Amino acid sequence: RTLAEMDDRLVHCRACPRLVAWREQVARDKRAAFRDEEYWGRPVPGFGPADAALLIVGLAPAAHGANRTGRMFTGDRSGDFLYAAMYEAGLASQPTATRPGDGLVLHGTRITSPVHCAPPANRPTTAERDTCRHWLDRELTLLAPTLRSVIVLGGFGWQALLPVLAAAGWVIPRPLPRFGHGAHAELPAASPDREPLHLFGCYHVSQQNTFTGRLTPAMLTDVLTSAAETAGL
Ligand code: SF4
Repeated sequence: RTLAEMDDRLVHCRACPRLVAWREQVARDKRAAFRDEEYWGRPVPGFGPADAALLIVGLAPAAHGANRTGRMFTGDRSGDFLYAAMYEAGLASQPTATRPGDGLVLHGTRITSPVHCAPPANRPTTAERDTCRHWLDRELTLLAPTLRSVIVLGGFGWQALLPVLAAAGWVIPRPLPRFGHGAHAELPAASPDREPLHLFGCYHVSQQNTFTGRLTPAMLTDVLTSAAETAGL
């Protein structure tokens, strides 16, 4: 299957009862406030080209952002922060993301998350992360031939991604690389058909981090620029 075919299947997934109930409840409650647009309320697939050299891994869709628009980090303050920095780093065609069809194109970069449905309080359970893992496994396997760098936004994504990277053909060093802002690890290829992969840690673009100044635009742009250079973008 191609990545596009995988995404077509993903948007119909109903494997996590708590998340299905929540994403659909939010959509029902908020539809009236957004009468002029479709309120998505379904799993959100990854966004960006199938031959990406750089992957950005978040946490899960936000209830009123990606769960509303159906596109990763689109329609809320976290996304505004991320896409402005991606534009600054030359990875996005425009600094804003409002909804699918707004003309935004990502250059050599894809964005995904280890959990594809919006969770209550932005906190998926480890069981939900594990249930969703097969989608990330498949996505990484499909991206692997062109993938050179990964940026992980936050510790949840970091923990979720390490076993997926191992399954997709990279060697995870021991002791395990620890998450932190500015963390960087080079993962050797486990087989000759893979290139080494560069893994970067970055604080999540949540309002909790951006409003408090824990993550500034310059800090994010620095990580994006390093990862893009390493990926040859
Ligand atoms: Fe399916 Fe993942 Fe959504 Fe769970 S979180 S329902 S596994 S897409």
